[in-house]
Amino acid sequence: MTQATPHVTHEVLNQVPPLAGYDVADDPALTQALRQEAGPPEAGQQGWESELHELGVRAGSAETRELARLANEYPPVLRTHDSRGHRIDEVEFHPAWHELMAAAVSRGLHAAPWLDDAPGAHVARAAKFYVWTQAEAGHGCPISMTYAAVPALRHEPALASRFAPLLASRAYDPGLRVPDGKAGLLAGMAMTEKQGGSDVRANTTRAVPAGGDGYLLTGHKWFCSAPMCDLFLVLAQAPEGLGCFLLPRVLPDGTRNSMRIQRLKDKLGNRSNASSEVEYDAAFAWRVGEPGRGVATIIEMVSATRLDCVLGSAAAIRQACVTALHYADIRRSFGAPLVSHPLMASVLADLVLESEAATALAMRLAGAADRAARGDADEAALLRLALPAAKYWVCKRTPVATAEALECLGGNGYIEESGLPRLYRDAPLNSVWEGSGNVTALDVLRALARAPGSADMLLAETGLAAGGDRRLDAAQERLGRELKEAAAATGTGAQYRARRLAGLIAVTLQASLLVRHAPAAVADAFCASRVAFADGPAGPPGAFGMLPDGLDLDPVLGRARVSVRG
Ligand SMILES: Cc1cc2nc3c(=O)[nH]c(=O)nc-3n(C[C@H](O)[C@H](O)[C@H](O)COP(=O)(O)OP(=O)(O)OC[C@H]3O[C@@H](n4cnc5c(N)ncnc54)[C@H](O)[C@@H]3O)c2cc1C
Repeated sequence: MTQATPHVTHEVLNQVPPLAGYDVADDPALTQALRQEAGPPEAGQQGWESELHELGVRAGSAETRELARLANEYPPVLRTHDSRGHRIDEVEFHPAWHELMAAAVSRGLHAAPWLDDAPGAHVARAAKFYVWTQAEAGHGCPISMTYAAVPALRHEPALASRFAPLLASRAYDPGLRVPDGKAGLLAGMAMTEKQGGSDVRANTTRAVPAGGDGYLLTGHKWFCSAPMCDLFLVLAQAPEGLGCFLLPRVLPDGTRNSMRIQRLKDKLGNRSNASSEVEYDAAFAWRVGEPGRGVATIIEMVSATRLDCVLGSAAAIRQACVTALHYADIRRSFGAPLVSHPLMASVLADLVLESEAATALAMRLAGAADRAARGDADEAALLRLALPAAKYWVCKRTPVATAEALECLGGNGYIEESGLPRLYRDAPLNSVWEGSGNVTALDVLRALARAPGSADMLLAETGLAAGGDRRLDAAQERLGRELKEAAAATGTGAQYRARRLAGLIAVTLQASLLVRHAPAAVADAFCASRVAFADGPAGPPGAFGMLPDGLDLDPVLGRARVSVRG
């Protein structure tokens, strides 16, 4: 009798191990921008850098990768009632969500920098947010909204001194309890209604005075993310006009406020995060800011979340690049690693250029936000114009970049385990919320009209790179011309061209930052591929991987190569 042979069908060859066990903060564009924007080392920057790497190692670990998978595989579930029929309106999350949240809050990625006097604290927070969001993007939503709530809340000093320290606390304390008694708080916002999100002045939720600064809110909100937050900034129509209100989930006497969660949205991506539809039935809220000036108040929150949209999108592009390059360095086709095929090198390098530029721009704006928060009017003016432009452009580039990175992994990129499908599904979201593409581009025109000094500050900033690259010099001239034309234009023509202008601002600013601070090969390739078309639309023509001849791509690729622990 012959011995049975084991059924070994084949050896697994040429498959790339998943990217885990690396430091996400091993990112030269990021660390350099942190040094530049956060000020000199004595301002705390060295401490921030080591904290950044600690977080980077955690973000890049196999354990965190698994938490991210679980938080998305087991999305939140709405429990409207308890076993005896009482309304509870609670959302249940997988423990992995809570672990991710606890990690973010304990690192102060939410509101901590608002109570930190050290110049650069917002920049350090921005860098950490960028790193940690690469672990999992969904839970960034409540983290970001909590960060953004504080400047709006400061319009009402009594409420700010009561709640800002708890919003900045590094204790993650989930659960619905009286806010004042909790160790830490989270905040959300509710503006969008069924009849419109961009045009919030069309809100129909009513606010009826209930004595003192108290109001009773009745109406609905069509999108209200992270409904398990403790506090919400809400827009509603008061007798004085559209106002901003702070609505607690639990009232000071311990009873639940009448904010009913109707259902959770079934979303394309961002699945770990709960986004809900809510109804208020005479829900109690405090007024925030001047009566009837609700948009002016909540816009402070919107501006801070827009910065996080840029940071989050830059982070997604970076993560996509690193994953693609890791794969292409190892995977072989036609006898050679993918990366060594000239066309693949062009695609990958092009993605890296997009990533470097997005990171440089996001961090420059974080620096401007930090300085603006400390009273720097010039930086505030720059931010007013450059932020909507960056939000429009960087968020628009993200779905295209993640799709291209996904394809670098071939069929494996289309499979969930690669991590790229989640990145791809999440990619369009930053462009949709906090002002969709058109609305954000139109805000560039509003900034030009209402803050005329902002164009001068922008040109002064891009002008710092003057003489560094002739293509950039030409783009700078064109930018000056187009800003003047847009400021003078009225009516539909300027609106029609708003996306072009927003893209031109963002790309010129990116180029100027790279010319000043990035390795020469990166700046050269960026200018050759993005700003050389002085009369065309901003950005590279068509797909990635159509770089012009004669560029030095090896140093570009090196920028997205990370070392993985054995
Ligand atoms: C997952 C998710 C979570 C969200 N969470 C929240 C939340 O927590 N709180 C909250 O308040 N909202 C939230 N939103 C809502 C989001 O902010 C809005 O969807 C967004 O602002 C757009 O509003 P809308 O959907 O009503 O679209 P509309 O206002 O109807 O706009 C539709 C399209 O028309 C364009 N448009 C509108 N006006 C103009 C114009 N004048 N010129 C040219 N184009 C125009 C817009 O850019 C957009 O592309 C969330 C959305 C999503 C998808």
